[in-house]
Amino acid sequence: MNKPEPITPSAEAPVSLYAKHEPVFNRRIDGKFRRIKWAIMAACLAIYWVTPWLRWDRGPYAPDQAVLIDLEHRRFYMFGIEIWPQEFYFVAGLLIMAGIGLFLVTSAVGRAWCGYACPQTVWTDLFQHVDRLIDGDRNARFRLYKAPWGPAKIARRVFKWAIYLAISFATGGAWIFYFADAPTLHQEFWSGTAAPVAYGTVLVLTLTTFALGGFMREQVCIYMCPWPRIQTAMLDEKSLIVTYKEWRGEKRGSLKKAQKNPGEYGDCIDCNQCVAVCPTGIDIREGPQIGCITCALCIDACDRVMAETGRPRGLIDYATLEDAENEKKGHPPTRHAKLIWRPRTLVYFAVWAGIGLGLLFMLGTRVHTDVSVAKDRNPPYILMSDGSVRNGYTLRLHNMQNRPRDMVLGIEGLPGAVMWTEDMAREAASRTLTRTVAPDATQVVRVYVVAPEDTRDQDFAFTLEAQGEERESDTAKAQFDAPGDE
Ligand code: SF4
Ligand code: SF4
Repeated sequence: MNKPEPITPSAEAPVSLYAKHEPVFNRRIDGKFRRIKWAIMAACLAIYWVTPWLRWDRGPYAPDQAVLIDLEHRRFYMFGIEIWPQEFYFVAGLLIMAGIGLFLVTSAVGRAWCGYACPQTVWTDLFQHVDRLIDGDRNARFRLYKAPWGPAKIARRVFKWAIYLAISFATGGAWIFYFADAPTLHQEFWSGTAAPVAYGTVLVLTLTTFALGGFMREQVCIYMCPWPRIQTAMLDEKSLIVTYKEWRGEKRGSLKKAQKNPGEYGDCIDCNQCVAVCPTGIDIREGPQIGCITCALCIDACDRVMAETGRPRGLIDYATLEDAENEKKGHPPTRHAKLIWRPRTLVYFAVWAGIGLGLLFMLGTRVHTDVSVAKDRNPPYILMSDGSVRNGYTLRLHNMQNRPRDMVLGIEGLPGAVMWTEDMAREAASRTLTRTVAPDATQVVRVYVVAPEDTRDQDFAFTLEAQGEERESDTAKAQFDAPGDE
């Protein structure tokens, strides 16, 4: 009789889809890439906190905040640019540029966005710095983590979380200043007279920053953010990534072993410094991983070890998989500039720059006069006692200049038709009407158009011409409905 197959542990135990969170106690490191990270972090935080307080003089009729998303008046201000709701394609264009820009950066320098400029990275870095200031570097933090809870540990934790909370509050608090005049809202906020939505927004953003930056950290990058998956799909063998040159580093062994057995060991002395400094707690020597945000701190750490042991730098370095293979065969590494400017990145750059130039051209040539029309649908027309036909329209006259302007509204096409508005007598109807539109404002006008008895269904247009030096104009197509054509 055959013996039963032994049951292996793997067959018996269900595979867990949940990996227990292991806290990361990364060591402080100094080096070229760390200094670049400091500079980018400082720039990102400064831009975020300072921008709402910058002023920009737009005259007496528009807000003087340089960057403002004015939800109440449905405007977006960015320095000298003012975007109206009907010009939302500019914002759509900027979002498309941001998306293609991310593709461009990923194809050129891998996950540089994740490693240097992503808000999750920047705020995690800031919180980790607070950890170091309060609890000390890696070993001290680990000892404190393992220590039993007592008054000293509780006091440290409370103090540190209070700092986390202050940073989170400053982060959430700054966000609302992008949506209203910052000095006014600041005063209203602290006097308790701001809108409830302002307090709600600050509360939600404070709590999310506290949780994501203070506690979840690399978990957001590894498990929550979709971007690493998208980027992984976009990387190819020519993409720059942080690479451990295993052909040079293996077989690993301590300095002592290497000295005792010359020629048997590679350059990696297995000191684990690259792991100790990693903000996501991974070991790059195990190959490219989704947890690697390519912050390059392991390069700084390993370069320092190489310098101390008298070996050439670059055991861990920015390299493409293709280049690493070539290096392994003894070829010199390709210059990074050459790797960055390859056909794929050039195509992304061309598309990105093309959209940017297109937007700039449209911005430079856009007119500051706009008319839009909505026709009455019920009833579509009214038969007048003299046999003529009347249609009703609601027109919006937009004056996008910071001064009042006279605007002449006219009818183009529709022979014999005249128009009048609710605030004038029908006898005064004509083919043109003049309205004065307030600065930076929209005037809503109810217009009645009446056409002679035998008029059929047809298209026509309303024209709007701003008077003054510029004489800008705009046209809006409209439909005229008449009986007997349904
Ligand atoms: S820092 Fe360099 S030498 Fe040390 S373990 Fe990492 S790869 Fe090896
Ligand atoms: S492995 Fe290196 S590059 Fe990747 S996240 Fe860790 S320290 Fe940064």
